[in-house]
Amino acid sequence: MRTIPNFIAGEERESLSGRTLDNYEPATGEVYSRVTDSAAGDIHAAYLAARDAFPDWSGTPASDRSETLLKIADAIEKDLQRFAEAESRDTGKPVRLAAAVDIPRAVSNLRFFATAILHASSELHTTDREALNFTLRRPRGVAGLISPWNLPLYLLTWKIAPALAAGNTAVAKPSEVTPMTAALLGETCAAAGLPPGVLNIVHGSGAGAGAALTAHPGITTISFTGGTATGAEIARTAAPMFKKLALEMGGKNPNIIFEDADLERAAEVSVQSSFSNQGQICLCGSRVLVHRALYDRFLQRFVPLVENLKVGDPLEPDTVQGAVVSRAHRDKILGYLKLAREEGGRILCGGSVPQQVNRRCRNGWFVRPTVIADLAVDCRVNQEEIFGPVVTVTPFENENEAVDMANGTRYGLAASVWTRDLERAHRVAERIDCGTVWINCWMLRDLRVPFGGMKDSGVGREGGDEALRFFTEPKNVCIRMNQPGRNG
Ligand code: NAD
Repeated sequence: MRTIPNFIAGEERESLSGRTLDNYEPATGEVYSRVTDSAAGDIHAAYLAARDAFPDWSGTPASDRSETLLKIADAIEKDLQRFAEAESRDTGKPVRLAAAVDIPRAVSNLRFFATAILHASSELHTTDREALNFTLRRPRGVAGLISPWNLPLYLLTWKIAPALAAGNTAVAKPSEVTPMTAALLGETCAAAGLPPGVLNIVHGSGAGAGAALTAHPGITTISFTGGTATGAEIARTAAPMFKKLALEMGGKNPNIIFEDADLERAAEVSVQSSFSNQGQICLCGSRVLVHRALYDRFLQRFVPLVENLKVGDPLEPDTVQGAVVSRAHRDKILGYLKLAREEGGRILCGGSVPQQVNRRCRNGWFVRPTVIADLAVDCRVNQEEIFGPVVTVTPFENENEAVDMANGTRYGLAASVWTRDLERAHRVAERIDCGTVWINCWMLRDLRVPFGGMKDSGVGREGGDEALRFFTEPKNVCIRMNQPGRNG
């Protein structure tokens, strides 16, 4: 059985302790590889490699850095099927989804920042006729990048690409639950000629490797994506050390459907937005709010579509719903289904594990796509992030109530709004407290826009210029032009 090693200074390395963690295939519930379990000593070794690589990499012309990142993107694209299968086996998501969305988006992340850096510009201000102020943006050094399991390669490259493009070197800590695509990425980077030490990938648990990365005094930039409780813990360590910190965290996203919405389209896209990747995308809409006038008709369209989603072996090409990521996560979701019943919820479909998916997957961790009605907006199921194939439906009476409901949780990541009324679309988009609002669509992505959350969903923004700014340090240079009184 393969043990996934760390990737440090361009080499494969076991952890210093020699310890490993089991890596499970969620669809079968069986261990299918092991992953090295790193701790502070391994993080330090990775830091030293990244620190030593920094002077050369940050001094490499942007066009050369760009070329290397483009080579990595091309190599992933060429090997797309292998990456997609690895991602599917690691996460339980349908291989079709990994091949159509996750891996291509990882490729675009690399291409976007590899080319963005060629067009980066800096600001210049003239101060009356006395001085020129211009801003130099320099890479910050060794960046620490911590990523979650739900979109492993997609979110890892979302951090690696801007960090490296801007001239930083990095120590990346992928989720210990889904290490496989990161391992392939390390191999790909070495083959594409990325200089040793520029990217180091250290595997291991959050409490071990993750906490050591956060606390390392030489790693002064931390970009984290994951749960809100973890983000708070990272901030507790990093803030008193004055590290630069970006936190992308949980969500409880509303999907607001007004009475004038295109019902068919709203129902179809709501199925995608609620259940893609078994509901395990931070941007999934988990609270569907529908105007009372449309509520019954919406449910008549929506619920049968959800019931028809094929739950199956993620490696089969017609599977739409695969396994959830772990036994613990499956049990957490089932716990919320129990709670929903106790809180007075009415299960309209799903609500349990499916009957045997196939022989290979008989011990896998699956949950049927579930729709729950009749829950109070302030109950736990409507307030807490479940992060599974579970959605609640709630009627509202008017626009103000819809906005209040949408804003009525601690989270503020994303929302989607369905209406044909342009003025209302603008009004509601402005009033919802979240980082992204989609109008009559979901998950359409433009890499130039800032991405992130408000409230307990996030601090800082990723994407486009925001990411390049995050990974660089601005330095203002002020040059005197004229001595007052001398040259008029
Ligand atoms: P998690 O917080 O458990 O783990 C995320 C990463 O942090 C993993 O690599 C983990 O090992 C590491 N980690 C855990 N404890 C740590 C610690 N004490 N110090 C440092 N690192 C630590 O999250 P998860 O379960 O992997 O992912 C699911 C969560 O991620 C959900 O809440 C989801 O909403 C969120 N998420 C957010 C976004 C976004 O862009 N806002 C995107 C995807 C996922």
